[in-house]
Amino acid sequence: MQNITDNDILEGVLDEFKKIAKIPRPSGHEEKISAFLKDYFAEMGFESVQDEVNNVIVNIPPTKNFENAPLTVLQAHMDMVAVASVGVPFNPTEDPIRLIRDDEYLRAAATSLGADDGMGIAIMMYIAKNLKEHGALRFIFTVDEENGMTGAEKLNAKYLTDAKYLINCDSEEFDQIITGCAGNITMEFEKTLERAPITKNNILTIELTGLKGGHSGERIGDNGGNAIIALISAIRNLESFGEVELIAVDGGSARNVIPSVARAIIATDIDKDTLNIALMEEGRSLYRVYDENDAEFIVKEAQSDFGAIKKETAKQIYQFANLIHCGVYAMHGNIPETSANIGVASTDEHTLKFSFLPRSSKDKKLDMFISKAKDLAELTEFKAIIGKRALGWSQKNGKLAGVMADIFKDITGRTMKIEEMHAGIECGFHHKSNPNLDIVSIGTTNEEIHSPRERLKLSTVAPITRLIARTLVKIGNI
Ligand SMILES: [Zn+2]
Repeated sequence: MQNITDNDILEGVLDEFKKIAKIPRPSGHEEKISAFLKDYFAEMGFESVQDEVNNVIVNIPPTKNFENAPLTVLQAHMDMVAVASVGVPFNPTEDPIRLIRDDEYLRAAATSLGADDGMGIAIMMYIAKNLKEHGALRFIFTVDEENGMTGAEKLNAKYLTDAKYLINCDSEEFDQIITGCAGNITMEFEKTLERAPITKNNILTIELTGLKGGHSGERIGDNGGNAIIALISAIRNLESFGEVELIAVDGGSARNVIPSVARAIIATDIDKDTLNIALMEEGRSLYRVYDENDAEFIVKEAQSDFGAIKKETAKQIYQFANLIHCGVYAMHGNIPETSANIGVASTDEHTLKFSFLPRSSKDKKLDMFISKAKDLAELTEFKAIIGKRALGWSQKNGKLAGVMADIFKDITGRTMKIEEMHAGIECGFHHKSNPNLDIVSIGTTNEEIHSPRERLKLSTVAPITRLIARTLVKIGNI
């Protein structure tokens, strides 16, 4: 690929990406993209199989003179976080992603772009077509990374045990090479609600909006507020001005996203002016405690189909929200070591639910968090449901990161940062399947992923494609 210009590489990779963007692929709905990739590589003449969860595994034989090179796995995930701007009609299981390109960025029309991880797939498709020198390769495309990593978890270890290197193409900064990630665990807390008739006249929706939010693995260290927790605290504080009956609390979009908006329904006898002044003060204290300059409480008249949550139950909800740890718990160097996030709150007539996601690079600390959360749930009479654990990974003695950083320097003149990260990636599962695998994670620069503002920095496509291509040649010659 030495003779191909950066621009030709960019256009070639984007041609592949366009094919993927046409195929709806939110997590849990990967049938179409899985079938597409299986056929795509089969038509190129490669052995291409789908496993029982729809992961796709492609074997690409070595080129001439590279027969003795060790087997290298390239891996990306097929699903995407498919979200649209508020008010934009978008059916993630049916509608294609419409692309908008300017000089600097590729983005989507009012939806997420799916560069996470469609760019990983597109680069692999491009490499399969264009790279003329490489050892034996295996491409692995997984399902459901964004929603629990079941693809990586269920991948048969036999696809990894015969390999020496694995390049995961799912990172978001082109000048960073990831050599470790934190583990995490999903937890749910459920409270059975007893309700009583509403006795106060003013039924109101109070919305807290304008917080920074962001991915809980990447932005938890930014000293932002959690809209769900801050809103519940604000409502509890209103009790010093009058009677408040809690009816519902809803907010957040996903467990691994710091909620930027939350809504509560209350009934109260506090007059409008007092309420507005009290909430303004709550907004100000968010500004004092966190780096939140745009937090805003919006009060509207409302109706309720339900009664009020009984006082004692509401108190337990307030106490739970006050005591559950949200945010960074401990740092390791300049990245969070342990953190936790309440990502979603939802209320129906009989139940209030919180979704929780603690992360830690230390397994024992994660255990400690589970134990703390269980105790708190018991004391405040929530049911705690412990879900799936995603494994952490730390590649202390690998050679691959150094090899790739050298090549990157040669291509771009820049130093590649070799770092561990706080967010979870699938490499933890790959490491468990084959502890001897030398694993790294890299990728193009994808900004504001998991949001309708997601965008791909075009200038990073050719360097990353070249980096992978030259690494494969180099590995073949080591
Ligand atoms: Zn991803």
